Amino acid sequence: MVQQCNTFFRAGFRAGIQPPEIHQIWQCLHQIADPELPALSITDLGMIRAVTPLQNGWRVTFTPTYSGCPATEYLINAIQETLAQAGFTPVYIEISLTPAWTTDWMNADAKQRLRESGIAPPQGLACEKTADVEPITCPCCGSHETEKISEFGSTACKALYRCQQCLEPFDYFKCI
Ligand SMILES: [Zn+2]
Repeated sequence: MVQQCNTFFRAGFRAGIQPPEIHQIWQCLHQIADPELPALSITDLGMIRAVTPLQNGWRVTFTPTYSGCPATEYLINAIQETLAQAGFTPVYIEISLTPAWTTDWMNADAKQRLRESGIAPPQGLACEKTADVEPITCPCCGSHETEKISEFGSTACKALYRCQQCLEPFDYFKCI
């Protein structure tokens, strides 16, 4: 069996096909929520850059949303534990800081879920310098009549807005 696996691996590498475990690992990683944005998983946020099979084990390439963020240590442990529970060991975590994480890596599904949790997702693209295009849309009622109350909301990456339509204050996740 081991022999067969090895043969499969080598054949897969030659053909550029990913072994099926890669898909399972991505699914495991999709279960890990971001501690600061519990509505989103680390894969929604685009923090997992790659999953690579090694001769012995797996390499997960990970980009923290903010370098020095206290969540980074927590997430590294969470990745190790989640994958170990699913039988994937050893796992080597490679931290990739270049290019730096950007809100552009958040997928459309992630933005929708942010909205549902009452946070306005980033508007515009940091890479195209169209970041934070006003007006910011209210995540509660969809109104464009909103005003900025404070540059910093519940965390540094968010700004605090208020909707003039439904009068709800809300966090806006700034483009970075
Ligand atoms: Zn509103």
